[in-house]
Amino acid sequence: MSVLSILEFPDPRLRTRAAPVSVFDANLKQFVADMFETMYAANGVGLAATQVNVHQRVLVIDMSEERNQPLVLINAEIVAKDGAQVYQEGCLSFPGLYADVTRALKVKVKAQDPDGKDFVYEAEGPLAVAVQHEMDHLEGKVFVDYLSPLKRSLLLKRLEKHRKQAASA
Ligand SMILES: [Zn+2]
Repeated sequence: MSVLSILEFPDPRLRTRAAPVSVFDANLKQFVADMFETMYAANGVGLAATQVNVHQRVLVIDMSEERNQPLVLINAEIVAKDGAQVYQEGCLSFPGLYADVTRALKVKVKAQDPDGKDFVYEAEGPLAVAVQHEMDHLEGKVFVDYLSPLKRSLLLKRLEKHRKQAASA
């Protein structure tokens, strides 16, 4: 396995729309394993293939404390959503940045596993946030897109400052 490098905003490659996965082979399984390793190494709770510059509809999530509840969704599509929630989101492509985003409380998705088998997955609360956040990445969308222009520019200034501090540390 290997840790992949994560694209950071405003890298224009984060705006790429991912293509559906059509080949479910050993390479795909290896890629999923690498995505988990990358996400765990970065202490993230979710990662979309877009963020590691692979433009295919693959996302991984693990929101458990013990890091033992891996979820892989391939070619995920939301088939139903319900309610609303505000949750403070972060993103591995925006190190040190957090912002409140309003999303559906519950989502039901249709997806495939790494063997190409169809399944339906239902998530609620923070897990539903993660599913929607990672699915957005595959459309080239990032969480700051939901913020007002003023809030977004304040946050992006903070991100820039954080980056300069990290570079000089
Ligand atoms: Zn993200």
